[in-house]
Amino acid sequence: MKYLTFSYDDGVTQDIRLVELFNKYGMKCTFNINSGLLGKDGYLDINGVRVNHIKVKPEDVRYIYDGHEVAGHGLTHPCLARLTDEKIIEEVEVDRVRLSELCGYDVVGFAYPGGDYDRRVSQLIKNKTGIKYCRTVTSTHDFVPQDYLHEFNPTVYHHKEWDKLFELGDKFLSLKTDTPSVFYVWGHAYEFDIHNSWDRFEEFLKMMSKAKDIEFVTNKEALLDRR
Ligand SMILES: [Zn+2]
Repeated sequence: MKYLTFSYDDGVTQDIRLVELFNKYGMKCTFNINSGLLGKDGYLDINGVRVNHIKVKPEDVRYIYDGHEVAGHGLTHPCLARLTDEKIIEEVEVDRVRLSELCGYDVVGFAYPGGDYDRRVSQLIKNKTGIKYCRTVTSTHDFVPQDYLHEFNPTVYHHKEWDKLFELGDKFLSLKTDTPSVFYVWGHAYEFDIHNSWDRFEEFLKMMSKAKDIEFVTNKEALLDRR
């Protein structure tokens, strides 16, 4: 009844290290990637720190994310609320089909690029594409099940809310529940390169991995399969 799941965006090369970390602790993650940007080089300047923002190559997607879930993030990482209906469907559905081909299974998840969406966008995706759930960037700080999966709010954003991450971790470990409860953590793997917080994140995984009553699952398993 208790599920821990992770969601990491943009399909960057730091995902390779993150996958190794999840595998070490028997945990599963969903990676939201942009099929139209795969293989592109780049960097980001965040708080005065320059980090690589290099996208994984299309031919590597299947083996890098093996054992985890790949989900959509738009063909080109667009701000969807600014686009026409037609363009939204194209960005989401063409991306979904391409990713499904690369992975060899039906991709059904999605994360809003830049957290940008409105009710028109989520309804279009729900009614006109094969996407079954969409993640927003609004933290709930709770584990309560949600009904409208095309605007699914995560529990916590690790990078900006480190203290909250550990506080909620403690709370989830001691939670006794008869209803499905989901602890949903999201972020970007390149954020671990800023202030080198890889070890801090590993501490969190180690802490959660000791629980006997928590299942470690992908987003799809947490939101669609285990309800
Ligand atoms: Zn993104």
